[in-house]
Amino acid sequence: MELFKGINQIKLPLLKVGPESVNVYIIEGKDGNLMIDTGWNTPEAFNTLAQEMKNSGFAMKDITSIVITHLHPDHMGLAGKVAELSGASIAVSEIENNLLDSYYTHPESTISQMILFFMANGVPEWELKMLAEASFNVRNYVTPFKATTLLKPGDRVDMEPFEFQVMATPGHSPGHICLYETNKKYFFSGDHILAEIVPNVSYHPLSGENPLGDYVNSLIGLTGLEVRFVFPGHSSVFSGLAPKIDDIQRFHQDRMYKIQRAMGVETKNAYDIARAIPWIVNGDETAYDKLEPLDRRLAVLETLAHLQYLVAENKGKKITEGEKTLYWSGE
Ligand SMILES: [Zn+2]
Repeated sequence: MELFKGINQIKLPLLKVGPESVNVYIIEGKDGNLMIDTGWNTPEAFNTLAQEMKNSGFAMKDITSIVITHLHPDHMGLAGKVAELSGASIAVSEIENNLLDSYYTHPESTISQMILFFMANGVPEWELKMLAEASFNVRNYVTPFKATTLLKPGDRVDMEPFEFQVMATPGHSPGHICLYETNKKYFFSGDHILAEIVPNVSYHPLSGENPLGDYVNSLIGLTGLEVRFVFPGHSSVFSGLAPKIDDIQRFHQDRMYKIQRAMGVETKNAYDIARAIPWIVNGDETAYDKLEPLDRRLAVLETLAHLQYLVAENKGKKITEGEKTLYWSGE
């Protein structure tokens, strides 16, 4: 569907977990067409992509370049296949490209690293495998690819008449990028900013020390940017970037407050802290024990992102006792 002149959006179906669909954008240039994100590699998603492209007058071979905002499978699963069929180049940030191997080519060592990490953070034996493997089945929906271009912040991606500036927005993923179209003031936000849900920010062995700190700084870095419309990776296009940033910051302040209260003056592991606060599922407050495996995983990793943030801000302390990692308020 053409949303604005030269800007097409195609919604591709996802699995039952998480958001319903992922957005693929096709930008029509004078000398080629740019695809931003690709959806994941299921027959259903691929057929929808092919059909919707045809409806909008595009053949696969019309795609000349692909830019991937970040390496999560719902955003890049089909990139290898689309590139193979079209001959398009694939651009991804240098930081994300460095993670390609541990995410997709050799995920086994990442899984065992995750098991140790969850153990250290208090996840009980019976739940370990469930959490460590919760996101790994979705990796089946990725066709491997080799990036042809490695993007750095400030790089330009031109698709005349559109000119995009690459903006580094780490947090949701360490090398997440957004694309800012400087003439029309369009902002392609990937999963950094979403219309209806607050993007997940997780701490884990591949996330960097303070991903929530990175995320908040990436939000602050957008203040003052003139944006007419935000084109997110999921859900609908919207205007009003500044109020959305305020909403997200408020959400994190509120969760931070709950986590700080749950932390207390005695040392606790992240798992127990995650179980002590309410989680929101479909708008309802839900106890940790009622969550599905993937949501449990995210709850523990999001709690850890907040705990790491508090430690970095000197509002909390972290210690290692034997093989266990513990946090407390530091008072
Ligand atoms: Zn994502």
